[in-house]
Amino acid sequence: MNSKVRVRFAPSPTGFFHIGGARTALFNWLYARHCKGTFVLRIEDTDKKRDSEESVRVLIDGLKWLGLHWDEGPEVGGQYAPYFQSGRKHIYDDYLKRLMNAGRTYERDGAVWFKVSGNPTVIPDEIRGNVTRLEEKDFVIIRSDGSPVFHFVNVVDDIDMGITHVIRGEDHLSNSSKHVELFEALGAPVPVFVHIPLILKTVGSGKMSKRDQGALVEDYKARWFLPEAVRNYLCLLGWSPKDDREILPIEEIISLFDLRQISRNNARFDEKKLAHVNGHYLRNLPPEAFINFCKPALQSAGLISEKIDPIYLAQVLNACQEKVRDVKSLPNFCAHFFSDDFFFDDAARGKIFKQGDAMARIREFYEALFFAPDFTEESLETLVASLAAAQGCKMGDYVHPVRFAVSGQSVGIGFYRLLRILGKECVIKRLKAFFQ
Ligand code: GLU
Repeated sequence: MNSKVRVRFAPSPTGFFHIGGARTALFNWLYARHCKGTFVLRIEDTDKKRDSEESVRVLIDGLKWLGLHWDEGPEVGGQYAPYFQSGRKHIYDDYLKRLMNAGRTYERDGAVWFKVSGNPTVIPDEIRGNVTRLEEKDFVIIRSDGSPVFHFVNVVDDIDMGITHVIRGEDHLSNSSKHVELFEALGAPVPVFVHIPLILKTVGSGKMSKRDQGALVEDYKARWFLPEAVRNYLCLLGWSPKDDREILPIEEIISLFDLRQISRNNARFDEKKLAHVNGHYLRNLPPEAFINFCKPALQSAGLISEKIDPIYLAQVLNACQEKVRDVKSLPNFCAHFFSDDFFFDDAARGKIFKQGDAMARIREFYEALFFAPDFTEESLETLVASLAAAQGCKMGDYVHPVRFAVSGQSVGIGFYRLLRILGKECVIKRLKAFFQ
């Protein structure tokens, strides 16, 4: 860390981690990494009713899953600890005294109010330019039950922690004139504000809410998305490199990331694009990493156990990797490699057995297998070619029914590779079971 840039992600724990929050965290992290600055995680847990350890856990796990590691904050500490607002009362008391001494507070109905200056405030916003607002009314900073209000603790912490850039969702723009008033009343420099546009639902003009499909970070983990892909996609929600590229290594995004390139328009969440980015990342993972990522998914689907032969697993997954669109559908796609008790797709059956004598082709192939010299992909292909020539039919007349008989599907990895991986014994057994 060799720059003075200090940014923070300051979530209020709500029990879930919304992708809007994740995108805010990501933009803070990108900016800190771009500037070689410091990324602070501060938990704004002043709402006792909602906050719980579990809610904080969801945020911390989500940030780690996305690879957004913080330089100061919970678990890692730092010179401004604690990083939970619930532990910082003494600091708020101290700043409150300063405001009182400056004559900027008064009490009414048991609450402490902040006296506004009466002058227009300028919010220096990197995306919108200088926004001038007049904060007309005094506002409460300490409630009658003694608990401090968000505006006050948020500003105190930004001052105390030396935050230089406040990067947050646009929904906070309306709070910023209150915040600038507080910075000025406390004699502190006003940070640069960066209010990032909202994320809209896929359809319509509404803001993405926690109920919308794809809104929660924890769901992506549960649906076996690759965190690098989700992170790459989130970068595109309001930012883009100057060219049209969508899939970029994170190191490159860090070096290109610039606050001025954040869009002023709202971003639209596009699940299809996210699925596309995810598929791209999956197919381009190093084979070993793909296996490590998919193995737990197959285990939790009950397809394999820890004892699975690693060489067999690698053969199956290497073959699936080039075809895969998402890991959630992988168990169905490859179940037939791990159990004889696999699912037969009835629609595919209908199509394959509708015309010609598919059953007879399976039988011919089965019988020919006993005379096959070996079980390589090349010799299997030669075998099918010679059968087709002898019967005056197409190779596909063998390929489709046999594929269906041994896998229950009409799609999948390359046919000869499928047979070779299953092995001669298994193929013979399944074909026999199919026509008996
Ligand atoms: N705790 C606020 C929130 O979660 C933080 C606002 C800010 O970043 O300043 O919305």
